[in-house]
Amino acid sequence: MSAPYRLDRGVLEATFRHFRGCGCGREECQVLWLSPWSQPDIIAKVVHPKHAGHFGGFVLDDAWLNEFWLELGATEMGIRVQVHTHPGEAFHSRTDDEYPIIHTPGFLSLVIPNFGLGPIGFNDAYLTEIQPGGRWKEVPIASRLVLT
Ligand SMILES: [Zn+2]
Repeated sequence: MSAPYRLDRGVLEATFRHFRGCGCGREECQVLWLSPWSQPDIIAKVVHPKHAGHFGGFVLDDAWLNEFWLELGATEMGIRVQVHTHPGEAFHSRTDDEYPIIHTPGFLSLVIPNFGLGPIGFNDAYLTEIQPGGRWKEVPIASRLVLT
């Protein structure tokens, strides 16, 4: 395992802003945390993908995603963490297992409870990581994400 990712409070604030503005406390939402190839351990950008959201999940827009892969290559950035909301408690659902955006071991999925309406931070959040065998496993947030 590599060093934990470092992110500043602005990344968290932008993340919660997307969740509240898009989901409005009624629909699930997802953002992606990116870091540059040159500094992979520093989360530098929050992207809000085009998606359809509903109470029980969300679906990314395929055309948007195709464009986004090209943009990532052109800007030399990579997706390190997918972050999404759940209506109530944060846990990992079957949908999350079926649709990881990245399948590489070490890829992280962070789940934020209550549509992101609670305090900005990792309170009651749930973090899971893709294992070498391809399965998700819960990991302590402090071991992978460091707020700077
Ligand atoms: Zn959204």
